[in-house]
Amino acid sequence: MSSQSSGTAGVESWLPSCTFCDGQLTEQLLALQSYPGEAASLPADVPDDGGLTLCPDCASEVVELLASWQPHGQPPVGADSSIGDGYREVGGTCSFCTDGRDGPVLGVELYRRVGDELPAYANYMLCDSCQSVFGEFLQNVRRESES
Ligand SMILES: [Zn+2]
Ligand SMILES: [Zn+2]
Repeated sequence: MSSQSSGTAGVESWLPSCTFCDGQLTEQLLALQSYPGEAASLPADVPDDGGLTLCPDCASEVVELLASWQPHGQPPVGADSSIGDGYREVGGTCSFCTDGRDGPVLGVELYRRVGDELPAYANYMLCDSCQSVFGEFLQNVRRESES
């Protein structure tokens, strides 16, 4: 299963810096992409493009949090709706509090991981209230990595 480490052409040339501590990233990084649905906005400390790339140090607490989230299936990609709203259709329940509810959703796609606690690829969806919790959490992680 884990023998497929090659075949990722192009990834090596794409090595941004850590979103939080600005350190140079290596192959070991956690990468997330956030997709706010209609009426949702990106949580605090998520860059405008929605992408988070974290070094193993900054990622450790985020990995712990994500490991407790319930992954959902991949959202449908439709021409007439945003990716964020696609997330609303796959899950129905929040990945964090597992409440099913209407309201603005935030899709979170995990596509690079550090360690084995997380799946290699996963999609999560956050409800309105968990979005702000996630934002505060990220602010705390960032503060710790800067001090
Ligand atoms: Zn970092
Ligand atoms: Zn929730």
